[in-house]
Amino acid sequence: MLPSSTVENYLKAIYLGQSALVGGMRLVPMGQVAAALRVTPGTATTMVKALAESGLAEYEPYSGVRLSAAGEKLAGLVLRRHRLVELFLVQVMGMKWDEVHDEAEQLEHVVSERLIERIDDMLGRPTHDPHGDPIPDPEGAIAHRHLDNLLTCPLNTPLRVTRIADQDPAFLRFIENNDLKPGQPLEVEARDQAADAVVVRGRERRVTIGARAASKLLVEHDAT
Ligand SMILES: [Zn+2]
Repeated sequence: MLPSSTVENYLKAIYLGQSALVGGMRLVPMGQVAAALRVTPGTATTMVKALAESGLAEYEPYSGVRLSAAGEKLAGLVLRRHRLVELFLVQVMGMKWDEVHDEAEQLEHVVSERLIERIDDMLGRPTHDPHGDPIPDPEGAIAHRHLDNLLTCPLNTPLRVTRIADQDPAFLRFIENNDLKPGQPLEVEARDQAADAVVVRGRERRVTIGARAASKLLVEHDAT
């Protein structure tokens, strides 16, 4: 049986929830799953129980949910389709990086494996989508690596933007207008918690952003 788009959206939400778990947490809280899918907790619980019955997830009442190996693989393949479609829409179709996420949300459920392998081949087997998100391999596996964000990175150290952890079009335009897209070099000059301000120096300019925005900009040490 091919998973429906609803099943795929649950798998993806739980998968993304798992990768954001902190402090040794093992299960994604059900409230978080329901919020990510914009459904009531009751609806989410019914669906997650069905996933557990099909062997795609482990559900622990009152604690939360986590995907089985089979569930993780399916979720990885949905993300693979999503991210390859986004890159295709930007590189081949000439769309802007702030308008492709919503298209990919639809197309991720309908593009065939054959088409996605052609796209992967045509784009030269890319490793990252336009937002810097890693593209899972044909088995649905992702190489996980820890990235600092602009709240946790060292000060006055050459860094490079690696990933933008927010798909909101307005936020993406803000990032682009301030030369903070993946690949751009930058340094954090100062952080002021009281003022909720992070002072960032890019190649051309200095910009002050708030903590929420700073937490969405993932960076790595600039080796060049
Ligand atoms: Zn996207």
